[in-house]
Amino acid sequence: MDLLIVGSGFFGLTIAERAAAAGRKVTVIDRRHHIGGNAYSANEPETGIEVHQYGAHLFHTSNPTVWEYVNRFTDFTSYVHRVYTTHKGVVFPLPINLGTINQFFQAAYTPDQAKALVHELAGEFDAKDAANLEEKGIALIGRPLYEAFIRDYTAKQWQTDPKDLPAEVISRLPVRYTYDNRYFNDTWEGLPVDGYTAWLERMADHPNIEVKLSTDYFDEAQPLNKKATVGQVPVVYTGPVDRYFDYAEGELSWRTLDFEQEVLPIGDFQGTSVMNYADADVPYTRIHEFKHFHPERADRYPTDKTVVVREYSRFATRADEPYYPVNTADDRSGLLAYRELAKGESEVYFGGRLGTYQYLDMHMAIGSALSMWNNQLA
Ligand code: FAD
Ligand code: UDP
Repeated sequence: MDLLIVGSGFFGLTIAERAAAAGRKVTVIDRRHHIGGNAYSANEPETGIEVHQYGAHLFHTSNPTVWEYVNRFTDFTSYVHRVYTTHKGVVFPLPINLGTINQFFQAAYTPDQAKALVHELAGEFDAKDAANLEEKGIALIGRPLYEAFIRDYTAKQWQTDPKDLPAEVISRLPVRYTYDNRYFNDTWEGLPVDGYTAWLERMADHPNIEVKLSTDYFDEAQPLNKKATVGQVPVVYTGPVDRYFDYAEGELSWRTLDFEQEVLPIGDFQGTSVMNYADADVPYTRIHEFKHFHPERADRYPTDKTVVVREYSRFATRADEPYYPVNTADDRSGLLAYRELAKGESEVYFGGRLGTYQYLDMHMAIGSALSMWNNQLA
């Protein structure tokens, strides 16, 4: 074995694939019973509808190197992601755009009129100086739209008052003065034609790659554990960085999600793939209806059944799946301390979402793995 990779998510598999193509012998271990990390999907048995097992995953990128690379393993459908939100029993388009603004104010504003109105409503804060998410949200769209679509959704999603969240969180969400309601701004987007798992399996399909599932790196009863391998073989580690050091510098905080899945005896529940729920009196943040991710599979999917998944958000304990880094000030100083410890590890490379404590979209995880391969490992 020339290289041991801990974690078979997109980061680990990209390194494995590149190393195998360069003639290296690679072993990938994962504590889960399947490959693919959080991008893993499986067909719901009763309906055959593909369900992303760790929450809906939409592929999008503007990086030509990543786009060329991923197309070696899968074709993509022409799916374009659009999200709607329900507020006080009425459905509005997201991200906030001219359609949302006109529907909310029961008006027919032109782009310039809408900009002037929002400018007037947003006057109490300046986006450049916003000290927290609430101030940034109000500075971007004004208090009425902020309170309707952002405040309670964000409080549900982060279980934290938006006044205590960093302003950057909201920067992910664009505000548009046109009727364009594409959720992503990227050059390319789509879903893997034959599903995420087929794509992930193709990345691992090489005689130089051995995959061992249900194998935990910290389990000393299995031979490829931390004690037995560090210093003996180069290791790419994509698990949680605080776990690697046995939480020596404290635990980094994460949000986790609970998914409540149901098969319903109807053809169409909500007419779209993702419906957000903006109000505080609805306990979940959104409902995913998975058949709508693949309209091109209409002839294969049942017309009288559908799969819906309600998503609930909360703080993670050690026993939960870590999904989103919370990134408090304590987390940021903890992370710096772990980075110092990481420098002292002989030939251990920390990567991916958990290994770097960073929210990475799939294209970012793949892009950073390609860089690590080219710059440090090749
Ligand atoms: P992961 O996929 O988390 O893989 C890490 C692997 O390491 C896991 O399989 C884990 O089991 C394994 N591991 C951990 N500890 C150990 C251990 N001790 N021993 C052995 N194995 C171990 N990205 C998008 O581009 N679009 C989206 O729409 C999108 N939606 C998302 C929705 C949710 C709810 C979440 C959580 C993420 C979403 N992402 C999305 C991000 C995407 O999941 C990540 O970019 C991708 O998973 C990163 O891959 P990774 O390899 O870094 O981590
Ligand atoms: N957001 C919101 N209302 C919505 C959708 C998003 O307030 O209906 C805010 C919320 O603070 C969220 C951020 O915008 O954390 C980023 O949203 P995104 O949809 O990118 O979150 P993700 O899909 O990663 O959970």
